[in-house]
Amino acid sequence: MKSPLDTLRSPLTFLQSRLETIPHRDVLGAEEAWWKNEGIAISNAIDRAGTPWLRMFDRLGKRVDEILYPREYQTILRRGYRAGVIWRALEEKSLIPTYLLMYDISFHDPGICCPYTVSLGTAVPLSKYGSAELQSRFLPPLTRKDDSVWQGATWMTEIKGGSDLGAAVETIARPAGDRWLLTGEKYFTSNVGAELAVVAARPEGAAPGVRGLALFLVPRYREDGGLNYFIRRLKDKIATRSVPTGEVELKESEGYLLGSADAGIYLILEVLNLSRVANSVVSVALAQRAMADALSYAEQRAAFGKPILDHPLLRHQFENRLHILQSVFALAWESVELLNEVWMEHAPYSDRYHLFRLVAHLAKYWTAEFAVDTAKWAMEVHGGLGVLAEYGAERWLREAMILAIWEGTSHRQILDGLEVMERKQAHKLLFWRLAEIAPSKELQEMESEVEQHLKMPTEKREALAEPLFRKLAIFTAESLARKPK
Ligand SMILES: Cc1cc2nc3c(=O)[nH]c(=O)nc-3n(C[C@H](O)[C@H](O)[C@H](O)COP(=O)(O)OP(=O)(O)OC[C@H]3O[C@@H](n4cnc5c(N)ncnc54)[C@H](O)[C@@H]3O)c2cc1C
Repeated sequence: MKSPLDTLRSPLTFLQSRLETIPHRDVLGAEEAWWKNEGIAISNAIDRAGTPWLRMFDRLGKRVDEILYPREYQTILRRGYRAGVIWRALEEKSLIPTYLLMYDISFHDPGICCPYTVSLGTAVPLSKYGSAELQSRFLPPLTRKDDSVWQGATWMTEIKGGSDLGAAVETIARPAGDRWLLTGEKYFTSNVGAELAVVAARPEGAAPGVRGLALFLVPRYREDGGLNYFIRRLKDKIATRSVPTGEVELKESEGYLLGSADAGIYLILEVLNLSRVANSVVSVALAQRAMADALSYAEQRAAFGKPILDHPLLRHQFENRLHILQSVFALAWESVELLNEVWMEHAPYSDRYHLFRLVAHLAKYWTAEFAVDTAKWAMEVHGGLGVLAEYGAERWLREAMILAIWEGTSHRQILDGLEVMERKQAHKLLFWRLAEIAPSKELQEMESEVEQHLKMPTEKREALAEPLFRKLAIFTAESLARKPK
């Protein structure tokens, strides 16, 4: 390898430069080779083709709600499942192989990791909270190793909004013997068409707010074989076109309660933990991809007598951004490793879990902001060609904007991060963790800034939270990047 910038060209090479051990390296290598030879072309075609088509009725007028994709969509989708993005987590009782695979795959297609994330967000709560009967019925199909594997989905958001779920979820669940019947509408339903979804709903008569929410498993088909949920339409999205996102109508849909009816909010947050960590990993991989594309362009494009990469300003920008990429990766990977320690915990949670939550909010926030900024910069490196859909640089900005919004916007991460610092003193746990690696003077300054901030009156504390949270995210990321491999 000639220069550190060369690590940008391959996700596996970058991972090897940052991590001491990489389980299943051969699997990651095979995935990367396949994506280079075949997957990238399919992914580009799916992105250009736009939204898949919803066929609501068959020839006899029966409601079928079938989603029609380009045929090759199934090729890229099923590959990741076979490689073990879901089954390995449950079989090996570790999330590390899952998130490594997500990094590897999302370098080539960030959207395709959404179906994997929501399938994980279905399989994990089922394996933790489902009754023995529910587990024996639904876990085997979700963890199959061949193309007949079932997919999951995680549907919380309704028309009134995703940030304030306690106020916005109006779907009601009524008990009906050994199951529940759910009625309501979900407004953003990714991986719609999945065989099984976890759905947030309020049991009839339950308390208002998030405390009254419960989590239900909703199969695509009713026990009598009829459709159990209906797809009203598909969203025409700017990106993540390799996953269909729709609107779903629940009409007395059969659902099975996970956990207890009055503790659903914990389960919902646990599902979000899995997806926020995935979002962080995917954001870093996307930033790496945008940089890799910019690098190969900057090596070939000449101006003022030499490749643009060899001009001091641009080369410095590349080197500096690689340094930041390494630090945001360290932050994202810390959230992976902490989640891997706490994902089987039940409420009441340990301090380690609260530390994880703070790191996950910092990671979701900062990796997505960095991905957006890097995608914009990579377009600029391409100059005027950067705005032409033909060459692909603009795709990373479209994809990155979605990463910053779904799984909770940056505002949500900042405010939830503040909350876990106030209520659980998670910043203290973080500073203890960083004490071994961060310079002590900087650590003390950061600590006192956070403490001062938390003493402010509520309104001011929220209003001024972003610069503090950003500083804390950068400080944490840079400290973690110093950790020896
Ligand atoms: C492509 C895509 C796919 C999705 N798939 C799914 C899915 O499968 N399942 C699912 O459940 N959801 C899904 N979502 C929904 C997503 O989680 C929500 O869009 C997100 O949580 C934000 O909710 P909202 O769009 O309703 O915005 P709102 O909650 O209406 O917020 C609007 C704005 O106000 C800000 N805001 C809200 N409260 C505050 C506050 N207290 N202080 C400061 N600012 C605030 C928000 O940050 C945001 O910027 C998807 C979204 C997208 C874009």
